[in-house]
Amino acid sequence: MIFIADRKPNGHHNNKTNKENRTHINMISTANIDKFKDLETPFYYYDLDVLRQTLNACRDASVKHGFHVHYALKANFNPRVLDIIQSYGFGADCVSGNEVKAAIAHGFDKGKVVFAGVGKSDREINLALDADIFCFNVESVQELHIINELAAAKNKKANVAIRINPNVDAHTHHFITTGLDENKFGINIWQLPDVAAALRQCSNLQFLGIHFHIGSQITDLEVYKSLCTRINEMQDWFTDHGFEVKVLNAGGGLGVDYHHPDNDIADFENYFQVFKNFLNVKPGQEVHFELGRALVAQSAALISRVLYVKNGLKKNFLILDAGMTELIRPMLYQAYHQIENVSQNAKSSTTNLKYDVVGPICESTDCFQKDVDLPESFRGDIIAVRTAGAYGEVMASGYNLRDIVGSVYSE
Ligand SMILES: *Cc1c(COP(=O)(O)O)cnc(C)c1O
Repeated sequence: MIFIADRKPNGHHNNKTNKENRTHINMISTANIDKFKDLETPFYYYDLDVLRQTLNACRDASVKHGFHVHYALKANFNPRVLDIIQSYGFGADCVSGNEVKAAIAHGFDKGKVVFAGVGKSDREINLALDADIFCFNVESVQELHIINELAAAKNKKANVAIRINPNVDAHTHHFITTGLDENKFGINIWQLPDVAAALRQCSNLQFLGIHFHIGSQITDLEVYKSLCTRINEMQDWFTDHGFEVKVLNAGGGLGVDYHHPDNDIADFENYFQVFKNFLNVKPGQEVHFELGRALVAQSAALISRVLYVKNGLKKNFLILDAGMTELIRPMLYQAYHQIENVSQNAKSSTTNLKYDVVGPICESTDCFQKDVDLPESFRGDIIAVRTAGAYGEVMASGYNLRDIVGSVYSE
C-alpha cells in the first residue's frame, strides 16, 4: 500500500478536464530512498522539480487572465525555495517585518510586496515604509491612523488596502478559518463607515483597494464563488462612497490533496477560473492573489527513522526520531499527512499492522497519527511524512533543546 513509484493518479479526486497535462508527483523514488539511507534523520526532503512544475502551473493559469500572484512567505521561507519562487516573477505576501526583509533580500520586487497582519509593530511598519513596498493590507481603523502618522514622519504616502472580514465560511478546519465575524482578522463590514472617514482624514495614505483572506486548505471552490459575491458588494460600497478601487486582492487558501500525495498538483486552472467567471472586474482594475500552501506543500516530505517499536496489548507504537518539533501541523491543527514506510523490507512485507506513529517529544500530543495501517515496521526503517512543504520546516522549533531540522534537496 505504501509508496509505489509509478502509482497512477487517482481520478475521482480530480475534476480537471485536461487529463494529459496532469503532473504526477514521484518524489519518493527507489533512487531517493537509497540516498536517504546514508543520511542522518530527520530532515525535510525537497523535490525542486515538483516545486517548479507547481510554479509553472500556477503561473500559466494566472497569467492567462492577467492576474497577479504574491507568494505567501510564511508557508515556507527556506532560502532555496524562496530563490526559485522569486525567479518565476511572483510577488511576495508578508506577515512580518522580517518576511518583508527576506522577500526583498531574495530578489522579490519591492513593488510586488504586500504586508498583512493584525499586529504590525511600529518598527515593522517603518521598515516596510523605508522599503517602499507595494501595499499595506490594513486590518483595523486604528492601524490606518498609525501607518498614516509614521508615513507622515517620513514624508511619504503609504499605499493601503483594507482587509475586510467578509463573514464567508471557508468550510475548512475551524482552527484555520479566518474570515468569520468571530475571527481576529480584518475589518468587519459594519466598521466600513469608520474606515471611509479615516481614509478621508489621513493625507499620508493612498487607498488602493480591498483585500480578503478567508482561511487555508480550502478545497471547495464554491467557497470562492461566495467570496467573489462579497468582493463585488464591497467594491460597490467603496465606489458608491467616492473611492476608486484599483486593486481587488482575494488572498490565498487554495488547498491540496493531503490524502493522495502522489496525485496532481493543486487545481490552479479551476481556482482562477472561478474568479474570472464571478468577479466583477472593472476596466483598469488589477486582481491579486496570495497563495502559500498550494505552491509549496507537495514539494517536500519529512524523512525520519523508526527509533523504537512498542508492541502493546491494545496498541502498537512507532516511535520516530521526528516529532512536533519538526512538523507540528498534526498536533496544532489536527492535520492529516500520509505516512509511509519507504524501506526496502517494508515493500516486501506481507504483514500489515496498525500503529500510532509518535515523536520523541515529552508531550502526549506529540503524535502524528493514530492507527496508521503500515507494513510491519522495525527499528531503523525510513518513514516519509508526505505533503510537508507548507507550514512544515517554517514551524520547526528547538523545544526540548532539539536540533533544528535540516533539509536535503533533489539537486
Ligand atoms: C497565510 C496567508 C496567506 C496564504 O494562505 P495559504 O492557505 O497558504 O494559501 C495569504 N494571505 C494572508 C494574509 C495570509 O495570512
